[in-house]
Amino acid sequence: MSALVYLDYAATTPVDPRVAEVMQRFLTLDGTYANPASRSHMLGWQAEQAVESARRQVADLIAADPREIVWTSGATEADNLALIGFMRANRERGRHLVTSVIEHKAVVDTAAALEREGFEVTWLTPGADGRVTPAQLREAMRPDTALVSLMAVNNELGCVHDLAALAEVAHAGGAAFHVDAAQGVGRIDLDVGRLGIDLMSLSGHKAYGPKGIGALYVRRSPDIRIEPLIHGGGHERGMRSGTLATHQIVGMGEAFSLAGAEGKEDQARILALRNRLLDGLSDLDGIHRNTAIEVAVPNILNLAFEGVDGESLLMALRSIALSTGSACNSASVEPSYVLKGIGVPRSLALASLRFSFGRFTTAADIDAALEAIQHALPGLRH
Ligand SMILES: *Cc1c(COP(=O)(O)O)cnc(C)c1O
Repeated sequence: MSALVYLDYAATTPVDPRVAEVMQRFLTLDGTYANPASRSHMLGWQAEQAVESARRQVADLIAADPREIVWTSGATEADNLALIGFMRANRERGRHLVTSVIEHKAVVDTAAALEREGFEVTWLTPGADGRVTPAQLREAMRPDTALVSLMAVNNELGCVHDLAALAEVAHAGGAAFHVDAAQGVGRIDLDVGRLGIDLMSLSGHKAYGPKGIGALYVRRSPDIRIEPLIHGGGHERGMRSGTLATHQIVGMGEAFSLAGAEGKEDQARILALRNRLLDGLSDLDGIHRNTAIEVAVPNILNLAFEGVDGESLLMALRSIALSTGSACNSASVEPSYVLKGIGVPRSLALASLRFSFGRFTTAADIDAALEAIQHALPGLRH
């Protein structure tokens, strides 16, 4: 039996074994299992110390102060906390939010919920390359715009926003700038100071850390105020209550430290693998790139196979773990809203696959995918 080839790193990454090894030490009786909020004994202090060390690892990757990191259950919660928490806490700044139609559902659905709460949202349509331009954003700014939310790296396309230029426009209009950077960790520079980011959502499991842990960066100077969504014991300086998941947190810290140390190298190797796939497909007709590779990270490549039904192609490529769009939508046969958002025709959107690569992808994986595609494609064309 041939092993499954995993080319779905944008949906989630496996935990790096070095991360899993660290996490093990924070679970059982012989480890540091105590509640990090327990102030009355040594084990509690040790757990707290581990949490704070991980907080510094995450802060270091984005050049932030550890006090600006709020632990959450993932990037979904971080997006909710950023958008809802900021808009509710800053009503005097205005009720207007600007975002795009191709954001992750965690932002799209949260912005839609804010609309139902009486806030106003401008939904920008990006260009064919998946990017909102600074000029487009300038056009959308209003005197009552409180927040702009645009993602760093699109999870379906891989395109990268010019965050520094967009932040400048947001700030010039008196708004704060939120970035969902779940797909950016270890892939692009996320220096919040240099880029001018005020709020940034992060996730553990897109960067070889565990699922169920994330963080929100909240700028302290100038001070960004957010209202908590989860009330309780006042953890995380009141911004997010709940007992901290020490094992998840140390895992995310270790993963982010590795992303800082090895991310560039990973991406260089992955670029060669991405190009190997593109080269191998170049003989086949009717393959369109939905990803504008000039402005994209190398680890995500979205391709349309003209004249083929994406679901049938996916079935024919059972030995390869791939996605037809975002994983959250793979139960429905509606074309991806992201592909629709950048103007890909419905028939091509339905014939599209997302290839995403990672730290453990090999040239043999790419060759297996190529062989499977070359084998399956002729029979699927109609
Ligand atoms: C995966 C992802 C999320 C959600 O992150 P979770 O940690 O799974 O909640 C949000 N935004 C983007 C861009 C993502 O890729």
